[in-house]
Amino acid sequence: MQTLAEIKAMLAARGLRPRHRFGQNFLVEPAHLRRLLEAAAIAPGDLVLEVGPGTGTLTEELLAAGAEVIACEIDRDLAALLRERLGPSIHLVEGDVLDRKRSLSAEVRRAIASRSFRLVANLPYQVASPLLALLAGDESCRGSFVTVQREVADRLAAPPGGREHGPLSVAVQSRATVRRISDLPPGCFWPPPKVSSAMIAVEPRADPPVGAAEHDDFGRFVTSVFSRRRKQLGSILGRGAALPEGISPDARPEAVPTDAWVALWRSLGKPTAISG
Ligand code: SAM
Repeated sequence: MQTLAEIKAMLAARGLRPRHRFGQNFLVEPAHLRRLLEAAAIAPGDLVLEVGPGTGTLTEELLAAGAEVIACEIDRDLAALLRERLGPSIHLVEGDVLDRKRSLSAEVRRAIASRSFRLVANLPYQVASPLLALLAGDESCRGSFVTVQREVADRLAAPPGGREHGPLSVAVQSRATVRRISDLPPGCFWPPPKVSSAMIAVEPRADPPVGAAEHDDFGRFVTSVFSRRRKQLGSILGRGAALPEGISPDARPEAVPTDAWVALWRSLGKPTAISG
C-alpha cells in the first residue's frame, strides 16, 4: 500500500493537490485497506470495478490479488498518473462513473460487458448513494465493498423504526444485505475529511423479494411515499387503500419493514409513485 509520503510525492511531482470537489481524501491507513480486501475475498481472475482509483493505492492491491481491474477516474491528472504507473495492467475509464441520468456510464458498462463483477472502492462521497442503489438492482454485481460517509453507511443498514430508515435503506435492503466492516475516523485519510467514514459490504440477497427489472420502479414508489414521511400511511395512500396484513394505516413510512414495503407495493399494483 502507498504511504502518505509516497502519495504526497506523486502529487507534488506533478504540481497537484487533493481536489475537494472530487472528494479526494486518500486512504493512508493500511489496516483498514486490508480489511476491505479481506471482505471482498478477491480470487485470481475476478473482475473488479474500482471507482475513483486516485493514485492507485487500492488498485495495486487488487492487481496483486490477481483481479482484472476496470478503474474509473474522473480527474484527468490522476488518470494520467495512473496510466504512467500502471499502464496496460488495468482498464482505465476516464470520466464520471455516472451519466446524466445517474446510470452507470456507457463506457464503464461497455468495459464490464455483462460479466459478473464486484465493486471495490474508496468511494467519492458524491456518488456513493446513487451508485450503491443502482448496483443493488444490477444482476451482474456480486457485491459492493466500499468506504462511504458514515451517515450513508448508517442509512443503508438502518433497521425500520428509526429516523435513518429511509428510501435508500428500503431500496437497497430489498435486494441486498448490508454489513459493517469497520469505522474510519477522519485521520485515516489525507487530507482528513470533515466527517467520519465506514467500510461496508453490500451483498446480494439469495432470494430478493424485488426482481432486478422491478428495482427502479420500486425505488421510485418508496421515495414518493417517504416524501411525506411525517404522515401516516393511511393518510398518504388514502384511508380506503387496502393494506396488506401486518401494515397499520397509522404507521409512518420509517416504521414499515423492507419486505412489508414490497408486499404493499405489490398490493397497490406496483405504482411508481403515489397519486395526489
Ligand atoms: N482510491 C483512492 C484511495 O483509496 O485513496 C482515492 C479515493 S478518493 C476518496 C475518491 C476518488 O474518486 C478520487 O480519485 C476522485 O478523483 C474520484 N472521483 C470523484 N468523483 C468521481 C466520479 N464521479 N467518477 C469517477 N471518479 C470520481
